[in-house]
Amino acid sequence: MISANNVNIMSDHDYCQNNNKLLKEDILSENHDILAKVRQISDTTNQQLPQSPSQHIQVETVNDLETDLDGVWQTVPSNKRSRLNENNQQCKKPRQLVTTETENRYDALSETNDMEEADISDRQEVKPPPIFIPDISNIKKMITSIESVISKDDYTYKLLNENKVKVCPLSISSYRTLIHKLTELKVTFHTFQLKQDRAFRVVLKNMHYSTDINDIKMSIEEQGFRVRNITNIREFKTKSPLSMFFVDLEPAQYNKEIYNVQYLLNAKIMFEPPRKRSEVVQCKKCQQYGHTKAYCWYPFRCVKCGKNHDTVLH
Ligand SMILES: [Zn+2]
Ligand SMILES: [Zn+2]
Repeated sequence: MISANNVNIMSDHDYCQNNNKLLKEDILSENHDILAKVRQISDTTNQQLPQSPSQHIQVETVNDLETDLDGVWQTVPSNKRSRLNENNQQCKKPRQLVTTETENRYDALSETNDMEEADISDRQEVKPPPIFIPDISNIKKMITSIESVISKDDYTYKLLNENKVKVCPLSISSYRTLIHKLTELKVTFHTFQLKQDRAFRVVLKNMHYSTDINDIKMSIEEQGFRVRNITNIREFKTKSPLSMFFVDLEPAQYNKEIYNVQYLLNAKIMFEPPRKRSEVVQCKKCQQYGHTKAYCWYPFRCVKCGKNHDTVLH
């Protein structure tokens, strides 16, 4: 139990840390498609704008679509530094839903605590991460937008401070649908990597830094693990290579078994969980804390001049 909990904590941490470029590219290309489609749709609707007053209602619908596309339920993003406390907030299924789905007959006797709730929903399906949307000016329109693509029963939301809303989709598919919709509406928001896509990161120690990464990869895979990525760890200040490597394994139940591996390529080695970083991650795109660039749909914020562009443009 204890070790399982530790692993959970570590992978939650990975939530923010893990910069899965592949997924980002995936999402970006999908976004691109959506944007193209949206443009197409608004082009055609503009062409079909009715001229006669008898079709007035239709005109309103078109206007609604257009204003919706501008994201009228959100004020212009302020790029305010976000509070840190939203960092590890997990989405929980509403208690009602959990009890109906699991038919827990003892519900009246025992108050379900957070851990139990998490266990139950983990068994059903991996929870999607929450979506954080800042600067909400019209909650009713936000809800209408959400419920135009997913069902009322498929999400909950929580109002955080400074009119920021945390939307919790209750299934992976509603999460993906909602991300598409928000992107289509050009809403500013951030989210985290899907737990099921997250790599399992371990530290390989006592392997000489000059060892070929492909050889390390092959020897780990010979043990039955699937390696996503291996990177050499460098000394923080001098940048000189250390005889340690980050090894990212593809998600799998048996990944913890890697801690039992003692030899790779004849070398006596050790696998350890990565040390939890104490500092909070900062987004390299919008400069806010608590999420990474790959899951950020805020505008760029330049650290040199504060304007909405990438700092590297200087
Ligand atoms: Zn960001
Ligand atoms: Zn600048």
